[in-house]
Amino acid sequence: MKKLILLLFICVFTLPSYAQQTTILHAGTLLAVPGTEPSKEQSIVIRNGKIVEVRSGYIAATGSNSNATIIDLKDSFVMPGFIDMHTHITGERDPAANPHEWTTLYDEDAAYRAIPFAEATLDAGFTTVRNLGGDHKLVTALKRAIAEGNVKGPRIIASLGAISATGGHGDWHGYRPEIMNAFEQNVGICDGTDDCRRAVRARIKQGADVIKITATGGVLSNTAAGVAQQLTDEELESIVETAHSLGRKVAAHAHEADGINAALRAGVNSIEHGSYLDDESVRLFNENDAYLVPTLLAGVSVSEELEVNNQIPPAIAEKIRQVAPVVEESFKRALKGGVKIAFGTDSGVSKHGTNAREFEIMVEYGMDENEAIRSATIVAAELLGMEDSLGTISSGKWADIVAVKENPLQNISALTNISFVMKEGAVFKK
Ligand SMILES: [Zn+2]
Repeated sequence: MKKLILLLFICVFTLPSYAQQTTILHAGTLLAVPGTEPSKEQSIVIRNGKIVEVRSGYIAATGSNSNATIIDLKDSFVMPGFIDMHTHITGERDPAANPHEWTTLYDEDAAYRAIPFAEATLDAGFTTVRNLGGDHKLVTALKRAIAEGNVKGPRIIASLGAISATGGHGDWHGYRPEIMNAFEQNVGICDGTDDCRRAVRARIKQGADVIKITATGGVLSNTAAGVAQQLTDEELESIVETAHSLGRKVAAHAHEADGINAALRAGVNSIEHGSYLDDESVRLFNENDAYLVPTLLAGVSVSEELEVNNQIPPAIAEKIRQVAPVVEESFKRALKGGVKIAFGTDSGVSKHGTNAREFEIMVEYGMDENEAIRSATIVAAELLGMEDSLGTISSGKWADIVAVKENPLQNISALTNISFVMKEGAVFKK
């Protein structure tokens, strides 16, 4: 009897109230596995935020599914939720803003401002982002608020800040030292192999899911230091070895070929931007099973901004003029060379919620429509190491599902007009 009471107690108090909640989604056209042919008239059964099964035909709410809610997407093209592998979700460039405004803001201002950025990203069909930068407390709090359901937004996989050399792309620039020193010490700034090992460990101590490094100079740091290699070969090796031994992948921001190739030789998992990648880079990508995250939208956005914003500092304007025009050729070289390409936008440089413009540019530069969708689903999930839970509409994976009214395999721009968003079984847009 005691055992029975205990069993009842356990059942009553451990079964969450939504345990039996089932949703059946009727998809007019379903691209369950991007890269393959879509199927007509499919049903997706969802329970407790996960996909239970995918079946042919429109199944009814009967039998074991008698309590199911039906979602009618018979007029839509249905796909897995998109993954953006390079965002800066806690900030956004605003050409009209006072460039020194940040010196007046509280951390709390930045937190409130990040809320609509997260909402716009999810609304655009991006159910997961890998966020590569930003204040570690701000990003962590936003990630937590989204996971707890207090803010609408994508699931966040975060690097927190970057690892950078002193004076490198990830360091402060352009203000007198007293001002720059007034902010919390950046644990990611390092010089030499031991110091860079410490920086990686410090980031992981802060809670980084992935390590972001600035292997070369960057366009938007206010320093006339070019975009060539900044972390040494030895520093890169030390960073990658430390990150991998602690179970973290490494994403390397890199523009010029020397830094791209040094980072690839050191064993990084992805190159971000890859603006000047050469034939040796293509060989190293393929040899080391590394991914390119091209962020084509960033190049387009800063070029557009340069047309209208005369407040861009000269050092930055010069680098925009240098780098933006070469990106297309590098992307085409990678595509032709069979490099694995994972979708990423650098959103924050561009406006949050316009992430799907990246699809348009990828296709414009020669990528097949279905491959572009695959890069934002299956390929991105692999690079995250989350292919068991993300990237396709298959049983056992999270129910991250998006839909559009038009067939994106015929017109990729359809993806800029998302009509339905589900994340972990919850509907955020219909
Ligand atoms: Zn970035």
